[in-house]
Amino acid sequence: MRLRTFPGGVHPHDEKHYSASSPITLAPLPAKVTIHVSQHIGSPSSPVVAVGDEVKTGQLIAEASGFVSLNQHASISGKVTAIDRFPHPCGTSSLAIQITGDGEDKWVELADEADYMNLSATEMKSRIAAAGICGMGGAGFPTNVKLSPPEDKPIDTVILNGVECEPFLTSDYRLMMEHADEIISGLKLIMKTVNARQGIIGIEANKPDAMALMEKKLKGEANLEVIGLKLRYPQGAEKQLIYAATRRKVPAGGLPMAVGVVVQNVGTAFAVYEAIRYRKPLIDRIISITGEGIKKPSNLQARIGTAFSELVEFCGGASMEIGKLISGGPMMGFALPSLDASMGKGSSGLLLFGKKAARLLDEKSCLRCARCVDVCPMNLLPSLIASAVKYKDLDKAVEAGLNDCMKCGSCSYVCPAQIRLVQWIDTGKIRYTEAQRAKK
Ligand code: SF4
Ligand code: SF4
Repeated sequence: MRLRTFPGGVHPHDEKHYSASSPITLAPLPAKVTIHVSQHIGSPSSPVVAVGDEVKTGQLIAEASGFVSLNQHASISGKVTAIDRFPHPCGTSSLAIQITGDGEDKWVELADEADYMNLSATEMKSRIAAAGICGMGGAGFPTNVKLSPPEDKPIDTVILNGVECEPFLTSDYRLMMEHADEIISGLKLIMKTVNARQGIIGIEANKPDAMALMEKKLKGEANLEVIGLKLRYPQGAEKQLIYAATRRKVPAGGLPMAVGVVVQNVGTAFAVYEAIRYRKPLIDRIISITGEGIKKPSNLQARIGTAFSELVEFCGGASMEIGKLISGGPMMGFALPSLDASMGKGSSGLLLFGKKAARLLDEKSCLRCARCVDVCPMNLLPSLIASAVKYKDLDKAVEAGLNDCMKCGSCSYVCPAQIRLVQWIDTGKIRYTEAQRAKK
């Protein structure tokens, strides 16, 4: 197969060997879950339960508070014991609903719709919205919103993102190997919701068995294909994946719908299938617990809201003194101060590293080598944006493309002067948002 890619980007060692061969294992039912009302892009969900309420697994506990928002459901049965601020998987803290389990896992009634492929697009989208599904690659955009483009933006292509370009993570890979049929059904359902004629599954070359399996499953499907991609980070980013797979260029500041494409993660396609066929709310997901610091690197099917500490314990505990914890991948994930936070809908991984990996690099002066420019997949001048932020010239940073940066970290990764480019750019984005708020 001819492999495709996009311009720019980097090629970090993929480090998938830790957990790639670990089949998906069911994590034990947690005694307690903490479900955040903000696990997605958009307004936080509004709690519809109170402390003391009894809930069943799959019951709505917080509802979408606007068009771009999300429903949240109980992931175990039990009693609501707190509605308060708790540590968030992004390393901050935010409002969450805590449920103490009764150990029985009593579910709300689900269904099994035999003719689920022939439901109307409106019904499919309403089931996706009811199930509280958001992008599971980490971006967290509510899926039903993404599948409702305006009429003047017709969609002809759906791309499933099976790239998993972040090093270490293997949850999407295992899902493709173990649930290929459900993912393909999810792709077909997503295509129906947006009336697309073409479906693509993009997979990187380091997963040849997943590529071969999907190709075998798609044999005879005239409008569905697997596209093989060279190993390159950040190929899982929407604009880069669209270019690699279709050669279409999403304009700066634009969305994939501008070029007739919708991109969804393979995990999201799986959740869409379960929501439409069984009316199953998103109450669990696959998460990789991996890195040099865990005794048994694993891919777990775990309930949303399970404490990271419980997942680590289930994987045999830490194998060394931990110096760094990351929620998500090492390139775009979030450093965690402890294992107190609980996994959310976007938690694709939890990485544990020893003390050596936690060293703080000494920033030196810029060498004007332009390596950061060469690798930037958005064609930006990272050194210019970062120095504008450092010297508090926000206008100059915006002019140089501050808002087009997707914080992929490729520039920081290659910088020989160890300048924390993406961290400076992120600081600029926060300052810009604050300035916009203050203006309003
Ligand atoms: S400037 Fe932004 S988009 Fe470009 S490489 Fe750096 S982090 Fe990635
Ligand atoms: S890679 Fe680092 S040293 Fe080279 S131009 Fe960019 S900021 Fe300067």
